[in-house]
Amino acid sequence: MPDRMALTPEEKRDSARRRLAASACVLGPDTRYEFIPNNMAAGPCEHCLAAALRTYTADEAPLAPLAGCPHPDQCVGYHRSLLPLG
Ligand SMILES: [Zn+2]
Repeated sequence: MPDRMALTPEEKRDSARRRLAASACVLGPDTRYEFIPNNMAAGPCEHCLAAALRTYTADEAPLAPLAGCPHPDQCVGYHRSLLPLG
């Protein structure tokens, strides 16, 4: 079984980038996404908290670990699509 904690920061970003692209391919390029900061032991850093204050398209969504994160090994950011109602 692969050790998920062994992913490098760039591998984490690549993985998130692929998930966002696949999601936008299905839901459409105008779909907005929330950035959900991690809740690991160290908690979300100030960069993650700031990133959670707005929504993004798949192309512009921040990819964790964010630049300047003080704990990039633990930093995991998720994206949640916001589906238009009605
Ligand atoms: Zn962080």
